[in-house]
Amino acid sequence: MIINFYNTLTRKKEEFSPMGETVKIYTCGPTVYSFAHIGNFRSYIFMDTLRRVLKYNGYKLKHVMNITDVGHLESDADDGEDKIVKAAKKENKDPYEISEYYTKVFLEDIKKLNIDKPEIICKATDNIKEMCEYVEKIVENGYGYETSKGIYFDISKLDKYPILSSRKVDEQIAGARVEVDKEKKNPEDFALWIKAPSTHIMKWESPWGLSYPGWHIECSAMSTKYLGNEFDIHTGGIDHIPTHHENEIAQSKGNCGKIPAKVWMHCNFLQVDGGKMSKSLGNIYTIEDLSQKGYEPLAYKLFCYTSHYRNNLNFTFEGLSSANSALKRLRQGYQKHLESNEKIEPSILNKYEERFHEAINDDLNMPKAMGIVWELIKYEKYSKQIADLLLKIDEVLGIKIDQEEKEEFDISNDVKEMIEQRKKAREEKNWKLSDELRDKIKEKGYIIKDTKEGYTIEKV
Ligand code: AMP
Ligand code: ZN
Repeated sequence: MIINFYNTLTRKKEEFSPMGETVKIYTCGPTVYSFAHIGNFRSYIFMDTLRRVLKYNGYKLKHVMNITDVGHLESDADDGEDKIVKAAKKENKDPYEISEYYTKVFLEDIKKLNIDKPEIICKATDNIKEMCEYVEKIVENGYGYETSKGIYFDISKLDKYPILSSRKVDEQIAGARVEVDKEKKNPEDFALWIKAPSTHIMKWESPWGLSYPGWHIECSAMSTKYLGNEFDIHTGGIDHIPTHHENEIAQSKGNCGKIPAKVWMHCNFLQVDGGKMSKSLGNIYTIEDLSQKGYEPLAYKLFCYTSHYRNNLNFTFEGLSSANSALKRLRQGYQKHLESNEKIEPSILNKYEERFHEAINDDLNMPKAMGIVWELIKYEKYSKQIADLLLKIDEVLGIKIDQEEKEEFDISNDVKEMIEQRKKAREEKNWKLSDELRDKIKEKGYIIKDTKEGYTIEKV
């Protein structure tokens, strides 16, 4: 079946045709200076959906995601301090300790969200040599030059800049608050390699003295190392479009004359209560924050499916609560279908599967795909054949639909009281009373079972 993806580069939906048998993808990974928040994870849930949809269509993947542990300055426009170095100073730790810790937490969160991990996850600091060589080649080709601060990319050497975003360079400069560096040939020239002040912590030997890489160069160097000069898909968040990805394309053109990826896909932002997520507003949540409030991480994943990845999504706790109950209802519905022997005409099921497949192949239209999932759950009769199809569909959803959920029910006050009395009777080793109360509770329609931790209660 045809797959259509929206390509930021051409600004239209296009039929996807991979360059080879294995689809090669590069995703810009996290900057590991702090806990990743649920907005960041919206982007990685999108990455997960992309992987799962391609696999559902039978493709093999070679997918690379980097971990930025050096070079990402506070502003994407080469301004401010390195984020990792800043965090290290603040927490009074070694920068490697910082990046190692937050990488570990990030990978744990990825697991909790059942995000299918890229085949290759690589750290910037493990690829300094490759980055340095990449910059040398750009300079050799005449696209880079040295200043007292570092090595800069000369955008005037390109036939077109920018090409990914529609921003106008002059407008950008006029609006920028950053003071223009007089040594730069063009105000929009960006740093490939930065000369380290003597007090700077993370620095390496290079042809230009002790220095460290710019942020954009790591993705160019690592994508080339693992995927070659050209590959199929490059992904990231929409904030990457105007600077980071634009500059990756420029670097690649300066290095080998090519645009690295055929398709560029970007996930829109998660907002909170209709506005920006920011530390000062106190509305940044982590996966751990959601868990502590009693929400399963996979409920957040399901919440993300309520909006198409190219639209923005507004996070509210009401929305998350609905997703949490929806997750339970999906799993309970799956179990009910699983337990039924009723037969359904295979052509009916095929039609559902086809519609689901069409939705996901239409630029990962998850809201539409979820509509079809709900139709299956609510089908006029229960059938194991539907459960089997739901399990197959869960290869794309990744929400563990086959995980058993206990049915939630309200227990009346008199039963609650009997449970309490029985608890007391057992503490007093009054087994006779305990058994009598168990029978009474059963008469009321509940089965109480004793466990090591206490008891469980189920409907008869
Ligand atoms: P960073 O760790 O800052 O490099 O960001 C990691 C990823 O999260 C990038 O792909 C960003 O584009 C993405 N991102 C950051 N904030 C949000 C947000 N509010 N919603 C969705 N994605 C985001
Ligand atoms: Zn990147």
